[in-house]
Amino acid sequence: MTSTLDSLAEARRAAASPLFADLAGDIGVSFEFFPPKTEKMEAQLWETFHTLEPLAPRFVSVTYGAGGSTRERTHATVARIAKESPVPPAAHLTCVEASREEIDAVARAYWDAGVRHIVALRGDVPGGEPYRAHPDGYANAAELVAGLKAIAPFDISVAAYPETHPDSDCPQADLDNLKRKFDAGATRAITQFFFSPDAFLRFRDAAAAAGIDAPILPGILPVSNVSQTRRMADMCGTSIPAWMVSIFDGLDDHPAARQLVAATIAAELCRRLYAGGVRDFHFYTLNRAELSYAICHMLGLRPTAPAKEKAA
Ligand SMILES: Cc1cc2nc3c(=O)[nH]c(=O)nc-3n(C[C@H](O)[C@H](O)[C@H](O)COP(=O)(O)OP(=O)(O)OC[C@H]3O[C@@H](n4cnc5c(N)ncnc54)[C@H](O)[C@@H]3O)c2cc1C
Repeated sequence: MTSTLDSLAEARRAAASPLFADLAGDIGVSFEFFPPKTEKMEAQLWETFHTLEPLAPRFVSVTYGAGGSTRERTHATVARIAKESPVPPAAHLTCVEASREEIDAVARAYWDAGVRHIVALRGDVPGGEPYRAHPDGYANAAELVAGLKAIAPFDISVAAYPETHPDSDCPQADLDNLKRKFDAGATRAITQFFFSPDAFLRFRDAAAAAGIDAPILPGILPVSNVSQTRRMADMCGTSIPAWMVSIFDGLDDHPAARQLVAATIAAELCRRLYAGGVRDFHFYTLNRAELSYAICHMLGLRPTAPAKEKAA
């Protein structure tokens, strides 16, 4: 629950925020995609990629399905980006249901394909069961980071949780865990999605106080479908504010209006983060370009080169 002091602090921060017109465009962005399942989804992914590519993202990342279910598709997508684009790709990799040997082999294949950036994650057991490590596997993300570093000098991102991971006993234990991941060799963290700018800024400050000086990128999920988001939020411990639910009330049959509302909400979140000193943003694109593109545009980001021909 938000205290009166928190609300006052947030109100003061919002009042001091720059207007959109004042944003300098001095931000860095990265985009997350999931590996496509069908030819149609594949065409959509590349169309999205080519729309966002001129925004010169620092990197783009490709997720790894639960239990390694997308191993080949993730690899194929990441390898194609590495081959065809100057944008550095990052491959997500999880510990779930795989031995160290299997995971190490996947990592080596990435290195051999020229991929230098891994997003190292523990993952979740498919079906929502409590997590249990593979008997010959990495127990958690910190162990995976150390294992990857022993293979090659990868650039490694890890996950962070402004509202605390559901498996964690308390925020301090979660921060200690994040610290272990940095001590093992991670270079940046990307957060789970969240909707309260203060939750992120408090977390960032707590991480700094715990001696973490590596970048922590806020994970921005532009939401246009609250019920779908609620399912994801319940699983990862993100709270959905009541105002957000009510703002989408009555828009079920108005998809275009929903998109406009979604862009406004996410841009406002980013504007407040910018006011709090944040300059790097990671977007969960869900393989759609419009919302992320619109938000980046409102933050002052402009294409550095003409958009490429859309993928066939
Ligand atoms: C940016 C981002 C990208 C993601 N991408 C994917 C993806 O591609 N595929 C996928 O399946 N999932 C993905 N996830 C989800 C992620 O796999 C889950 O959130 C998972 O439950 C935790 O992963 P982790 O790497 O944070 O785990 P860990 O950092 O290992 O920690 C998980 C929890 O266990 C606790 N813990 C870990 N080790 C210890 C220990 N030694 N002692 C006590 N407690 C411990 C931690 O405190 C934490 O609460 C992503 C999440 C984020 C934020």
